[in-house]
Amino acid sequence: MSLMNATRNALPALFAAACLAVAPAQADNHAGEDAPSFTTAPLKGPLHLLQGKGGNIVASVGGDGVLLIDADYTDMAPAYASAVRELSASTDTPRFLLNTHWHLDHTGGNALWGEQGTVVMAHDNVRARMASGGRIAALGVEQAASPPEALPVVTYGDSAALHFNGDTLELQHYPNGHTDGDSVVYFAAENVVHMGDLFFKDRFPFVDMSSGGTVDGYIAGVQAVLARIDDDTVVVPGHGDVADKADLQRFADMLVATRDHVRGRLAAGAGVEDVVAEGLGEKWADWANPNFITEERWIGFLAAE
Ligand SMILES: [Zn+2]
Repeated sequence: MSLMNATRNALPALFAAACLAVAPAQADNHAGEDAPSFTTAPLKGPLHLLQGKGGNIVASVGGDGVLLIDADYTDMAPAYASAVRELSASTDTPRFLLNTHWHLDHTGGNALWGEQGTVVMAHDNVRARMASGGRIAALGVEQAASPPEALPVVTYGDSAALHFNGDTLELQHYPNGHTDGDSVVYFAAENVVHMGDLFFKDRFPFVDMSSGGTVDGYIAGVQAVLARIDDDTVVVPGHGDVADKADLQRFADMLVATRDHVRGRLAAGAGVEDVVAEGLGEKWADWANPNFITEERWIGFLAAE
């Protein structure tokens, strides 16, 4: 009972503050600012990391032009337009924009690019959900239908490949994890992977069950990525700092351990309130985000299945 009340009370305000899943450090950096701000940092080869208010953006900038992965919130888009102009001497319009999933903190900027002719690509379900809009139940909010120019114009089911700036990008769909439209983008030559919201570094993740997400699918997706990458892979989470395979493995270990713990307690007859009252233990205390996915909320996701 306290779980549901806490969820209802805390999250709508948080979403309204444009913090669908912002890491605390970023939220602090940008809280109360009038003009949207962001940072850019070289990642590897032609790749750059852009961090603003919403999800992490990876930009590939080179002889073939500019490609972006994710587009942050709508009000951030003009700022990124200036970033593209600064990063690229030859163009101010990306050729491609890839969306890791449909949430507004990753697709809000789509319309600005789409109306300039940028080709937007995403999983089939991203276009479908953006076109209709929908309720994100755990946050108690409606994400409005996106305008036509924001919609992905190239969609795919399982995977797609792009050959760009000397690299091969594989867009791989993992079903029913954070949502039902999650893609992970692998840069084969640079050995970089953008995981979208299938990875929250050192945080309990958000599983959007009203958008088709499931805890078991989420874990399966993370484990599939772990099986493909190596110790040198640069791992970009949807939110938070750049990570590596060890960070992702630690995240996977947390997911499995806490899931098994909660399911074990429920199987033994405990109620969700009991598990919340007991807590997950000191080992996982640091993974709670008081501004987003608290321990109580994470237990709620685990118990929902
Ligand atoms: Zn998300």
